[in-house]
Amino acid sequence: MTSQEIQSLTNQYIMNTYGRFPVTIDHGEGATLYTPEGTRYIDFTSGIGVSDLGYGCAPWADAIAVQAKKVGHTSNLFYTEPPARLAEILCRRTGMSCVFFANGGGEANEGLIKLARKYSFDKYGQGRAAVITLNNSFHGRTITTLKATGQEVFHNYFFPFTEGFRYANANDLDSLEAAAGDDVCAVLVELVQGEGGVLPLDPAYVRALAKLCAERDWLLLADEVQTGVGRTGSLFAFQQYGVVPDAVSFAKGIAGGMPMSGILAGEKCRDVLGPGTHATTFGANPVCAAAGLVVQETLTEEFLAAVREKGAYLRERIEALDLPCFGKTRGMGLMIGIEVRGGCSNKEIANKLIEHGLLVLTAGPGMRLLPPLVITKEEMDQGLAIMKAALA
Ligand SMILES: *Cc1c(COP(=O)(O)O)cnc(C)c1O
Repeated sequence: MTSQEIQSLTNQYIMNTYGRFPVTIDHGEGATLYTPEGTRYIDFTSGIGVSDLGYGCAPWADAIAVQAKKVGHTSNLFYTEPPARLAEILCRRTGMSCVFFANGGGEANEGLIKLARKYSFDKYGQGRAAVITLNNSFHGRTITTLKATGQEVFHNYFFPFTEGFRYANANDLDSLEAAAGDDVCAVLVELVQGEGGVLPLDPAYVRALAKLCAERDWLLLADEVQTGVGRTGSLFAFQQYGVVPDAVSFAKGIAGGMPMSGILAGEKCRDVLGPGTHATTFGANPVCAAAGLVVQETLTEEFLAAVREKGAYLRERIEALDLPCFGKTRGMGLMIGIEVRGGCSNKEIANKLIEHGLLVLTAGPGMRLLPPLVITKEEMDQGLAIMKAALA
């Protein structure tokens, strides 16, 4: 089918919930994507932080094929090897105690919220169920995680929302105190706010927050759906902040493009969700877990160091272009935000870059770049050349 035919069919038969760019993807290699007609794009999006190994990665595709031929799904009533091995690696590399596997980021965050409420219920009884989240956060699209999201625009249409969420300003302990109370059981944060505009939390604030949570027996919950799995240059962002959350959610990059998510729980929380309290049919799918194992094999310490170097290189070169519409950059590793200035709109900039052959994302009022972690210097330079040609 041609690009145009695929777009028409999609627009007719897939529910119109996404604002799509007029680009049809057929295949890719590394950080480069092609349309059915062979038009080439440098990809600074990874399918929103998912395809960390890029496209056409042979070991990843082979691991999926091998596991699919053995057994594609069994349910969690039985045991399979790939999720057990993946959970072991994640725990060993983070110091966490155990994993619950799910399918998407919002669902993983629902798990974190259930974990926090049950932890508190078991210890203190009812009435201590409030979760504090941060303004400008994003935690998902379910009825509960929409309400956990600290942006008013998301609290619309779908009433009634789940009760028990209060919001504080990022990097502001006074604001956190104002949201505190006897009814609080947890604080849920993104260490780098992703959808909100690539806004890293201040390390001193995160350390003070961890201390406060420990003193009051509030669970510290990290939503690492976007920041996790090497994106920020460490396996999880919390490892660069020098704090250990009680539980952490992950999703996007965990299986390099296969749908998988989950939560990592520390020792204190390992037995909170017992048999019958939490489950999902597709969770811990062995094909997805086999893909996740290839991601873990790829993300060595040297690889993560290279992610930090690539991120620093891209930010330095973008700022050196000194484009009229781009201000300062920010972020961690290959999670990069660019401030938009000079009265430009981030949507217009994204459209212009895509017309010139560079796929990019927006976040908050600015631009967001989440290239595949395997992106090469040549691909980064080609992307930078497109930025210069399109925006100078
Ligand atoms: C993408 C994202 C989510 C939602 O993940 P889905 O897989 O779309 O449900 C939640 N939290 C953060 C921080 C995200 O970036």
